[in-house]
Amino acid sequence: MELIFATQNAHKVKEVNEIIADIPNLKVVGLAEMGITDDIPETQDTIRGNAIQKAEYLWHKFEKNCFAEDSGLEVDALNGAPGVYSARYSGEPKNDKRNLEKVLKEMENKKKRTARFRTVIAFIYEGQLNCFEGICEGTIRKDTAGDGGFGYDPIFQPNGYNKTFGELSSEIKNKISHRAKAMKLFLQKLSE
Ligand code: IMP
Repeated sequence: MELIFATQNAHKVKEVNEIIADIPNLKVVGLAEMGITDDIPETQDTIRGNAIQKAEYLWHKFEKNCFAEDSGLEVDALNGAPGVYSARYSGEPKNDKRNLEKVLKEMENKKKRTARFRTVIAFIYEGQLNCFEGICEGTIRKDTAGDGGFGYDPIFQPNGYNKTFGELSSEIKNKISHRAKAMKLFLQKLSE
């Protein structure tokens, strides 16, 4: 089965393909591979709303089984920011490094460092919508560490580890991440 993944982010397509590597007959293709250059709207004010909006856009336009995901980092001391605005937290054009520096600066004098990554996957199969959510709890470090992964990975330390996502191997990240957890629920549904 081929599923279109509503993302232009090659990193995410790679991560998802690593997560599903053991599943026979399932291939996930990104928009670039499909030659789809549309800038898919994500104008909702929740992570879940954006995931649904992206999947519905693809379904209505191409009528192909597809899924979309939306993720964000929620920092408790920042009242849940950057949250749904994670990709563009420091303004346009989106820039991971600037976003991360903005969070570090806002967290400079904060004692409470708890945060979580949240992912919602919206899956449309033959017109039927299902959503799956994954959460990874952790803390925001005072400085960056590691250069693996992307986005806020170098400042996010998942609970139970003393390294950031930027330092941990992709094997470990792909087992414990928000995206991996949402994917697990999604794959359970697929296997039905
Ligand atoms: P998107 O809108 O789902 O592409 O994700 C929004 C933003 O959340 C991304 O641009 C990243 O900054 C951040 N983000 C999402 N997932 C991760 C992750 O696994 N690691 C680090 N940052 C992430």
